[in-house]
Amino acid sequence: MDTFTAPPEYPPRSAMVRACTACGACCAAPDIHALGKPLGVPCVHLGPECLCGVYAARPAVCRGYQPDWVCGEVAPLPTLQARVARFLQIYGLEDEARGAGG
Ligand code: SF4
Ligand code: SF4
Repeated sequence: MDTFTAPPEYPPRSAMVRACTACGACCAAPDIHALGKPLGVPCVHLGPECLCGVYAARPAVCRGYQPDWVCGEVAPLPTLQARVARFLQIYGLEDEARGAGG
């Protein structure tokens, strides 16, 4: 199983996405300790069009992030808010994100 194969218990709803489409979800949904970023809150460096404002100087955790099957579930959604909500739902982090203010 590669990183683009959804877990067996998870029925994929969307077409597979293998390349990053700069949807911004992974810059907004997860907590990123290196940036002091809580769950569900867009990174302060995430700019318009979901582009990174410090791309050349982004931290290692961002440089190392690789697209996986979750991208296919979130990237096609129409708004960043919807993409973040879906990302958190997939990982079961909705309640935690609400507690974090996300
Ligand atoms: S969630 Fe996936 S498609 Fe969206 S910006 Fe992150 S790596 Fe790219
Ligand atoms: S620093 Fe850039 S790549 Fe990293 S989470 Fe923020 S916007 Fe995304």
